[in-house]
Amino acid sequence: MYTFLKETFNNFFSFNNHIKKTGEIELACIFCQKIYKINKKNINIHINLVDSNNSIRCNVCKFYAIIPITEKSALYNLTKNEKINKLELWHKLEFSTDIQEDDYYLDEETKENFDRLLKV
Ligand SMILES: [Zn+2]
Repeated sequence: MYTFLKETFNNFFSFNNHIKKTGEIELACIFCQKIYKINKKNINIHINLVDSNNSIRCNVCKFYAIIPITEKSALYNLTKNEKINKLELWHKLEFSTDIQEDDYYLDEETKENFDRLLKV
């Protein structure tokens, strides 16, 4: 599994602790390739909680592709541009459609990740 995918999984508690402590948080969506600024007022607009694994779903694209940017995130302490660059790269790795159909092959682990991300 890609390391960044782990951050999309079972991430509600770290998200919740962070927003309780600081009142706000940034959520990065790998599918949207955007950063959403969340505070206690707009929280319901942007996220759509939560599957049985406590993973956060993006309210825009409906994918479980959200990374809460806490101290533990690989996106923490990066500039806005650096964050977006990483999201674009990760989006390609996870959702790229520019592979030839003949070359298209999913191993079991990747397939599970897709299934989880596609779950609505
Ligand atoms: Zn999204």
